Amino acid sequence: MALENMRQPIESGCPDALQYMHPVMLKNFGNWKYHEDPEPGVLRHVAHSGDEVWTVRAGTQRILDVYTVRKLCDIGDQFADGYIRFTIRSNIEFLVTDPAKVQPLIGALREAGFIVGGTRNSVTMISHTQGFLHCDIPATDASGVVKSMMDELADEFQNWNMPNRVHIATSCCQINCGGQADIAINIQHTKPPRINHDLVSAVCERPTVVARCPVAAIRPAQVNGKPTLEVDEKKCICCGACFPPCPPMQINHAEHSQLAIWVGGNHSNARSKPSFQKLVAAGIPNNPPRWPEATAIVKKILHTYKEDAKDWERINDWIDRIGWPRFFEKTGLPFTKYHVDNWRGARKSLNASAHIRF
Ligand code: SF4
Ligand code: SF4
Repeated sequence: MALENMRQPIESGCPDALQYMHPVMLKNFGNWKYHEDPEPGVLRHVAHSGDEVWTVRAGTQRILDVYTVRKLCDIGDQFADGYIRFTIRSNIEFLVTDPAKVQPLIGALREAGFIVGGTRNSVTMISHTQGFLHCDIPATDASGVVKSMMDELADEFQNWNMPNRVHIATSCCQINCGGQADIAINIQHTKPPRINHDLVSAVCERPTVVARCPVAAIRPAQVNGKPTLEVDEKKCICCGACFPPCPPMQINHAEHSQLAIWVGGNHSNARSKPSFQKLVAAGIPNNPPRWPEATAIVKKILHTYKEDAKDWERINDWIDRIGWPRFFEKTGLPFTKYHVDNWRGARKSLNASAHIRF
């Protein structure tokens, strides 16, 4: 029997964040005067009331085990004011009101093996989509890519040695739930799905799968007397959209699902217009556990940006100024036929109209 005073279920969304907020943050909510960056990984926010909050930011490995979370919380209890928060890029931030606590807190984090930084003109933590732990369609372990790349970019996280901030993102399928980034490492399927005809009628709602395809490449079919689906491989753009509603349309492949690197995306319109990222390297092996080929290309792009961009240019601003031909020249990345979008099927088949079809 239900308890009389049972807590009402919360249908959706995360819990109210205000209950976990540092009291000084709560008191001055919406009333901040300015903030400054005293050193890498440290922010000082000053409120109109005169109150101050100091924030120390550390990098995490993104997928956190219970022991690491406990260790971080213990550090928060012992060296900070007992309040933490995670940023959308999986940095952890500790908040204190007494500036005398900042250096001991940084010391404790470093002692425990965490890197402090990720603010201002640094490479902040790589964000990534959910991957194997939370999603049913990934073709790579996005958090593994993040860990191996950040191991090699620890200096760029801990120091202000980039022209401006760099946001990197990793996505583990081609119809990814990620977004734009200065540098994005995304999965790229290169072969149409392989269909397990024995399972389609048992597992898939066929009209739903047909409707899912953005280029109308899927048709109902019969194989060995069983209802199934077939794919027109000339039309298929290997997007993988048919795989979530119909796992027997297996798109993930150890060899043919590869990585591609895109650059110059920017969601923000704070100082210049938002921009879409563009493909700069394709056909990179999806090579766990350390993904050395993809990491080498990311480092090459970062190194060239660091050497060549003017102060405070984001990657998209830098490329806008020098132009794409010079980008390829300077980074030494080959410009290949895969960079030219020559797909002509769109006019006939792409679901590009605003009409609703049933
Ligand atoms: S990028 Fe794709 S596979 Fe990865 S979590 Fe998002 S939808 Fe799932
Ligand atoms: S991979 Fe994409 S384009 Fe190809 S059949 Fe599936 S949904 Fe259509």
